[in-house]
Amino acid sequence: MIKRDGHIHTPYCPHGSKDSFSLYAEKAIESGLEEITFTEHAPLPEGFNDPVPEQDSGMKPADLEKYIQDLESVKKQYQKDLRIHTGLEIDYIEGFESQTIDFLNQYGFHLDDAILSVHFLKARGQYVCMDYSPESFEQLITLTGSTDLVHSLYYQTVLKSVQADLGPYKPKRIGHMTLAKKFQRLYPPLESHEDEIKQLLNAVKLHQLELDYNGAGTVKPHCQETYPTPAIASAAYKMGIDLVYGSDAHTADGLMQGTDQLIALNP
Ligand SMILES: [Zn+2]
Ligand SMILES: [Zn+2]
Repeated sequence: MIKRDGHIHTPYCPHGSKDSFSLYAEKAIESGLEEITFTEHAPLPEGFNDPVPEQDSGMKPADLEKYIQDLESVKKQYQKDLRIHTGLEIDYIEGFESQTIDFLNQYGFHLDDAILSVHFLKARGQYVCMDYSPESFEQLITLTGSTDLVHSLYYQTVLKSVQADLGPYKPKRIGHMTLAKKFQRLYPPLESHEDEIKQLLNAVKLHQLELDYNGAGTVKPHCQETYPTPAIASAAYKMGIDLVYGSDAHTADGLMQGTDQLIALNP
């Protein structure tokens, strides 16, 4: 029985739905959840030019204060039935570490919980949002030379995010660590990337971070599995790494997605 969801988007997501905080909270209670974290996409680092056509990967910087205030009131509103945490999903973008540190130093104090995720990869000097569309993934295949090289670049970038010194407010949880598999049925990798994954898990353990055990891939037609996969989740669990279920819901109906495919989780 899943009691906690540590990865939920909100009406502040420019590429998500306008479902209200209350709708999410009520659906969470109905589903038997006791604890949730709203983790909206943080504003992208200053100076970073969002490569997706709509330029809507992150929250608008001007909305951030209001987001935090809204969460304070929704926390109070549901305090009897649900523990609600204020969080953000923060992008790790290679080359923008100092802007990310500045952001965390300014706003980290408001956060109860947060996720550090890689969506953007830097290939041949160009930033591409890997998970935006099959076309963006294909663009990375062209830039790197192969599907396996995209996977390697992804794991290397996640490793950098794990090792990066982002100051005292660095998020404690690494988002969807196998997101490179989102389009695996269209672009199947030929290699297992076992060594890179092992290296990554060792670093997560060493830095005492947690893993987002993300259900969103299960409903993506070209993926159909959790991030990380059951085998990697099981290896992480055996190493004593905490896995925190995350629906990564962008609608209230998306809560609990993928919970039917999780291996036994730590309490
Ligand atoms: Zn999103
Ligand atoms: Zn994400």
